[in-house]
Amino acid sequence: MNPLPIFKRGFAHGVHPHELTERTVHLPIQRVPFVSHYILPLGQHLGAPARPIVKVNERVQRGQLIAEPGAYISTALHSPVTGWIRGIEAHRYPNGQLQQAIEIEADSYATQRLETKATIDWKNLSIKEFIHHIQQAGIVGMGGAAFPSHAKYDIPAGLTIEHLVINGAECEPYLTNDHRLMLERPATVLMGVELIRQKIGAKQATIGVEANKLDAVKILKRVISQQNLSQIKVVSLQVKYPQGAEKMLIKSLFGIEVPAKQLPRDIGMTVNNVGTVVAIADYFATGMPLIERIVTVAGSGVERPANLIVPIGTPVREVLRFCGGLKDTTCEVIMGGPMMGTPIVSLDVPIVKGSSGLLAFTAKEARRNKEQPCIHCGRCVEACPHFLNPSRLARLAKVRRYNEMGAYYAMDCVECGACTFSCPSNIPIVQLIKIGKTEIRRAKVAI
Ligand code: SF4
Ligand code: SF4
Repeated sequence: MNPLPIFKRGFAHGVHPHELTERTVHLPIQRVPFVSHYILPLGQHLGAPARPIVKVNERVQRGQLIAEPGAYISTALHSPVTGWIRGIEAHRYPNGQLQQAIEIEADSYATQRLETKATIDWKNLSIKEFIHHIQQAGIVGMGGAAFPSHAKYDIPAGLTIEHLVINGAECEPYLTNDHRLMLERPATVLMGVELIRQKIGAKQATIGVEANKLDAVKILKRVISQQNLSQIKVVSLQVKYPQGAEKMLIKSLFGIEVPAKQLPRDIGMTVNNVGTVVAIADYFATGMPLIERIVTVAGSGVERPANLIVPIGTPVREVLRFCGGLKDTTCEVIMGGPMMGTPIVSLDVPIVKGSSGLLAFTAKEARRNKEQPCIHCGRCVEACPHFLNPSRLARLAKVRRYNEMGAYYAMDCVECGACTFSCPSNIPIVQLIKIGKTEIRRAKVAI
């Protein structure tokens, strides 16, 4: 395959929310201290929940495997601390649903030194062994979707991956954890990119970074030239939401559309987030599985915003306490970004593998204006990066005509929320579409 041309442009449609990163973009990543207990939901990734392999009151070490993948599309779970298993029972997940989880009491006298293996010789692993390692390390997409990463490298017969695409766009307002990662650990980002590129046999890798992070572009380019990594390119992209969505990123970088109902791998590409790439690099360099992640804590409701390394399973309440707590005027806490994240039901829910942000909003920011009738202005259609008709989909969902939504490509909706953001009538379009998609999936399972 010839090298793909690089177009420094964006994609059609999309929206331009305020970036709102000024309170955290300059803040170096810091570690939160260990707390007394941790909640590890078994289904914090897409696919089947993990299967516990520990018993109540058993002693576990930091980094120890505590649950095995429950199926192929599933991944492992490890203890974020040295301590004792205190329960395996239903706990509230950030989205409000009850889910089986492993509860761990930390040993406050333990050093919390990581019990890991030495560096893993990835160069001599077969692709099958590489995939197995990624699954056993519990690594998922760190951009928020938490799709088990190993499945992206398992390419069906007849397909080849020519191009590795790295998502450094971080297009959601408020979030700055990927930006800080690229600034503070560029060599690790590039080590991860090169490692994955070589293992999957891609000829080239391209890192797409929004043009509001030119300091990250500069530093990545400098390390690429110092290390002579000629197969890796860094490209600055138009600042636009949802630039970080897989298909938008590919369109922006190469001018190529991934057809509806197809995946990037069908056109010879695979897309990874920079956080995922660093998790993979760290695992092969130190043997550390995915037991912590970087979380941006921001919003006007939080006293001291921060970019934090947080052990998976830490209760949200503890993370916010480290940040000085919530202001009295706070009325909503969102996990993730403001466009795709979800309000949490309790401060006792844990940080999970997909938690990229914790945003605390005061009444002014969280206010939702009263919903008005659709005025057929077409702004949602103009906003939709997938060229759907969000207004029609929302109307069908509202009257529960879910079976008709399929004909309007409801399942191609990536739930980016650009339609809701653009609607002058305050119609909760993406929320209605999500309900419709859930019902369509449920009906399929019932058949
Ligand atoms: S319909 Fe879906 S893909 Fe289109 S803008 Fe709305 S949420 Fe995004
Ligand atoms: S943006 Fe809102 S008001 Fe305008 S067409 Fe879409 S749903 Fe209707």
